[in-house]
Amino acid sequence: MDKFIVASHNKKKLAELTRILKPMGFDVICPSDIEGGIPEEEENGSTFEENALIKARSACKFTGLPAVADDSGLCVDALNGAPGIYSARFAGTGKDSDNNALLLAKLQGVTNRSASFVSCIACVFPDGREFTVKGECKGEIAGALIGDGGFGYDPLFLTEWGCFGTMTAEQKDKVSHRARAIEKFKEKLVEFI
Ligand code: IMP
Repeated sequence: MDKFIVASHNKKKLAELTRILKPMGFDVICPSDIEGGIPEEEENGSTFEENALIKARSACKFTGLPAVADDSGLCVDALNGAPGIYSARFAGTGKDSDNNALLLAKLQGVTNRSASFVSCIACVFPDGREFTVKGECKGEIAGALIGDGGFGYDPLFLTEWGCFGTMTAEQKDKVSHRARAIEKFKEKLVEFI
């Protein structure tokens, strides 16, 4: 059986990618399965694609295995796409609550509240072949926090199906940027194996 390394420390992402790769006949390993882990690369790319590729290339080089990594974030139109690739570190404290408060402050009095969540997945093979796929989910930024489900900016993200902050994991998995990227990843991977 062929093996894939999923270069993520996020349990939810690992589980999602494992759910796809396993039925396709792949054995999935994660950084914690490797003694000493894998080196964490600085995400110094300027796009989601670049950052996902940086992580996947590094994991592939280190392990010699095909590698998968993802990078995601929230892009707000009125803020010219910010926080974008800086979504996790927007407020600089690493806390979701601070990021949400800063986003609300920046959008105070702003009428155009359209935004999208973006997820990019990169796949890199030891022979040098690589590809990326991108999933998007469009929505609007609420005027205040709604619900306490999910993580990150979920309580501020309104979609035509409701706010991410009040959705169950199953509901979010049907429409989210990550679910859409994963669907494309699955289609694309078939061309490479
Ligand atoms: P990363 O891809 O794990 O680095 O995520 C980047 C950041 O984007 C997260 O820390 C969140 O702030 C935000 N983000 C990405 N996906 C989601 C999501 O599905 N819901 C809420 N926030 C998200």
